[in-house]
Amino acid sequence: MRIRSNPMPSRMVDILCFLIIAVFLPVVFMFEIVVVLPAFHEPGGFFHTFTFLMAMFLVFNIKGNMIACMMIDTSVNVKKVEPPSDQLNWRECGECQKLAPPRSWHCKACKVCILKRDHHCIYTGCCIGLRNHRFFMGFIFYLFVGSVYALVYNSIYMWVIHGHIYSNWVTVLKLACPMLHLLWLMESSSWPTMCPLF
Ligand SMILES: [Zn+2]
Ligand SMILES: [Zn+2]
Repeated sequence: MRIRSNPMPSRMVDILCFLIIAVFLPVVFMFEIVVVLPAFHEPGGFFHTFTFLMAMFLVFNIKGNMIACMMIDTSVNVKKVEPPSDQLNWRECGECQKLAPPRSWHCKACKVCILKRDHHCIYTGCCIGLRNHRFFMGFIFYLFVGSVYALVYNSIYMWVIHGHIYSNWVTVLKLACPMLHLLWLMESSSWPTMCPLF
């Protein structure tokens, strides 16, 4: 298994999507642990500890699989393979000037031919192909489980525990147009009420 020399995403769209997982996900995780979880379970109790450990397990698996996905080289450079004598279905790639085996495909973003190429993932900034497919599936699986876990907790947090705030059209308007809310508060010129409802 060969490690890529530069596993970081190169295109702007890849960098932005990568930052969603690299930065936004840990921020959301901290919010869930610090704000949402104590609203459900008493800190230090069994359910609080269990849910915290489950969340840690999911985040570490999401990050771990993602990093493994990005690190593993899936290109035709992975090892020197001798083509068969008749070179059946092998081709000389016109773009990267490499001899590519069957089922490989040239990726314009990675600028190289990828073995058993599935697709170019914008969240990891690399191609999914030979050897990193299983890590990509693990990444997707744990991301799905974590999203469902967070969706259930956040839905109850918003619509049941804080239903009096979020099941309210005024709150929807404030979330959609925060500047309007600010103007309205300034017009009323009562600074003590500047503290938002949420
Ligand atoms: Zn190529
Ligand atoms: Zn690619």
